[in-house]
Amino acid sequence: MNTAATMTTAPQAAPPADERHALVLFSGGQDSTACLAWALERYARVETIGFDYGQRHAVELQCRLTVLERLRAEFPQWAARLGVDHVLDLSLLGRISDTALTGERAIELNANGLPSTFVPGRNLLFLTFAAAVAYRRGASVLVGGMCETDYSGYPDCRHDTLAALQTALGLGLATPMAIETPLMCLTKAQTWALADTLGGTALIELTLEHTHTCYLGERSARHAWGYGCGLCPACALRRQGFERWSAG
Ligand code: ZN
Repeated sequence: MNTAATMTTAPQAAPPADERHALVLFSGGQDSTACLAWALERYARVETIGFDYGQRHAVELQCRLTVLERLRAEFPQWAARLGVDHVLDLSLLGRISDTALTGERAIELNANGLPSTFVPGRNLLFLTFAAAVAYRRGASVLVGGMCETDYSGYPDCRHDTLAALQTALGLGLATPMAIETPLMCLTKAQTWALADTLGGTALIELTLEHTHTCYLGERSARHAWGYGCGLCPACALRRQGFERWSAG
């Protein structure tokens, strides 16, 4: 505990609700920004991890740095808990995947009913690599923005998949490795509401201006809900969620 008198008038962080250290899968998108704020409010120390896997929307790798910078500057109550950022090169994933997220394919439904944006095994690999980093860094919680309410039908975003992976990681590492998914049961409108509750107007403005969601990497047009092409499934979900939250 810090017993020294403080000279700053910046907002002080409340004692963390959870003394564990967390590693947040942070892509620079709306969902993972809400997850990061959720983790910063809760855990004693929070680090972030991102993945470069040859995604068409690689602009998100730049956006995530901007979001981290703004969070540190605008939320001093969280900045003290926000530790280092890790970026892993998973370009191999892009090379072995033939998808609309990693190649010049159309965004459409495949014959198996899954969208062509589905990158097989992506979240399983992300969480497994994150667990390896977390183990080394002394973190025992992984936080991800997976959601099965308003989502694209990816089977690796489902609660059952992640519960099984949590068990496998705990066994494989011989130490508990919790997977927390605070957005799992939220609609996209509720995710905006969560961001508002956690960080107020400042976090909403930061999310609108600096996070990236669009699958096509489009950032030339600014809409009420942020930047994007406005047409791809990711933009459609973001727009609909924002409109419902705004109207509510
Ligand atoms: Zn888009």
